Amino acid sequence: MPCYLVVSDVHASVPAIEAVRAAAGDHDGLISLGDMVGYGPHPNEAVAFVREHAAFAILGNHDMACYDKDLLDWFNGAAREAVIFSRDRLTQENLDYVKTLPLQAGTGPFVFIHSSLLELWGYVYGEYEALQNLLRLKAFKRRILFVGHTHRSEVYRIQGERITRKALTEGDTVDLSGDDLLLINPGSVGQPRDADPRLGFGLLDTDAMTYTQRRVPYDIAAVQEAMRAERLPDYLIDRLTQGR
Ligand code: ZN
Repeated sequence: MPCYLVVSDVHASVPAIEAVRAAAGDHDGLISLGDMVGYGPHPNEAVAFVREHAAFAILGNHDMACYDKDLLDWFNGAAREAVIFSRDRLTQENLDYVKTLPLQAGTGPFVFIHSSLLELWGYVYGEYEALQNLLRLKAFKRRILFVGHTHRSEVYRIQGERITRKALTEGDTVDLSGDDLLLINPGSVGQPRDADPRLGFGLLDTDAMTYTQRRVPYDIAAVQEAMRAERLPDYLIDRLTQGR
């Protein structure tokens, strides 16, 4: 399957999923990097979207917190409230599916994980963490790591001795051919946090060996209205407008 839709941090948002579907164009399968649920008002629809289309689906911390009480205890107020909302709304069938998801998967040169190869639920927030992750990846004889979790669209590249970071925006293409080590984050479908409120996802073409970033608008007001109707925390509703 040469062309994959790469999504992460869908966070239970039907308006965002609809915008991804409309913008994605032709593809042969879906890769989900985790956090289908949490924050947003539509957990079952988000899990169904991944279940129906995923070639690879990875477990995120918000997904796991739906069935792991110890992990849920680590969550702060608003995030915790939204996980409990997701957990209580998920059908048994969807919850059973969430429980089957692995922490990582891989194929060819690629590894897919939600957070970090260094530490379960750790964050890649800069060159240091990216470098450590890519050295670990290299030890596994893999070359290209996809992560989510920070909700920022970006790419880190190790070329020779040098690591560089680049924020990714609409239409940016990353060349995956050659020998460089790469760490790519598609950003978040349901809750972007890099000051651009447009949702983020990517298209991975494993024939051409390219990754193309998409940042597209979606109906933020509609998801905010649905969140208000479900009495989800104001903080989570307001941040969508700012992309923070
Ligand atoms: Zn997330």
